[in-house]
Amino acid sequence: MQLPREVIVGKGTLKRVPEVVKRLGIKGKALVMSDQQCYELAGRIVSKLLEESGLDVDFLLVKTMTTKDVLAFENQIKELKPQILFGVGGGTIIDSAKVSSGSQNIPFISIPTTVSHDGIASPLASIKGSDKPYSIMAQAPLAIIADTEVIAQAPWRFVISGCGDIISKFTAVKDWKLAHLENGEYYGGYAASLALMSAKLVTENAELIVYRQDEGLRILLEALISCGVAMSIAGSSRPCSGSEHLFSHALDIINSNHAMHGEQCGVGTILTAYLYRTNWQRIKGTLKQIGAPTTAAELGVKDSDIVKALELAAKIRPERYTILHRLNLGTEVCEKTAKATGVIN
Ligand SMILES: [Zn+2]
Repeated sequence: MQLPREVIVGKGTLKRVPEVVKRLGIKGKALVMSDQQCYELAGRIVSKLLEESGLDVDFLLVKTMTTKDVLAFENQIKELKPQILFGVGGGTIIDSAKVSSGSQNIPFISIPTTVSHDGIASPLASIKGSDKPYSIMAQAPLAIIADTEVIAQAPWRFVISGCGDIISKFTAVKDWKLAHLENGEYYGGYAASLALMSAKLVTENAELIVYRQDEGLRILLEALISCGVAMSIAGSSRPCSGSEHLFSHALDIINSNHAMHGEQCGVGTILTAYLYRTNWQRIKGTLKQIGAPTTAAELGVKDSDIVKALELAAKIRPERYTILHRLNLGTEVCEKTAKATGVIN
């Protein structure tokens, strides 16, 4: 079980980088990984603070994260030999830092500039162009420093996506429990409760998030970090990724011009909550309140692609037993589900 040793969330926390470096006893060379935009936003300040803390600092520019890019990052790490890697940016950057530092056996520190999904604190990462459309195990961050002042500068849509990813834990946990009951799969009540509590807290505080209060952003960040920790405790993405995530991955395969991860997972949660005969209306209501998409049109995908994705979802990952595997839905039932929930017309 890998857990972060330091989690610092709040306004202006970026300036606490030297304090974290000192407490963790980090010395020698640090490598800062970022893209151009995030470097201007936070990476430059982080680099400067690290230099002031007496570290040698190198910079690695990330443009894309394909399997080829990851190999190039790993070679750079081998060449530069840093003691620690700092990932400063959105999901792609954090995932790049996670995968390349993990394979090179050096720790990494996560400094997110957006809150679009729960990868900011999880040990899992997804790589474009790999044979798996879902996340794989990498390593958990040694520390997370999340500055809400920096994160508030990102487009609002990232926050909406982050909320969708959190709300999806309602069905992810149901699927995990189902796999435990019907397939004897390991189920960790503590990890499941942590994921579920995050979804409940974001639902209960939706109003604070909608009104763009710092406190709302903080609740969302804490929920995303707790979900990352839940995955570390479980040793897999099980507490945070079920049938609704499979639906999102299927949509990625069918429609390359897709919406954001959390937006798709949110719509997936409406559909799979309906299949569970649970309160899907409340889930839809919360997503609407936050301003997240709840229909195919709002996601920007065709109605027929929603039906196709729901049918394809179970086939993507046959070993991950969910309600979709249990029900083994045909096209007609998929269409009926999408219509009954108002996702399609
Ligand atoms: Zn997710």
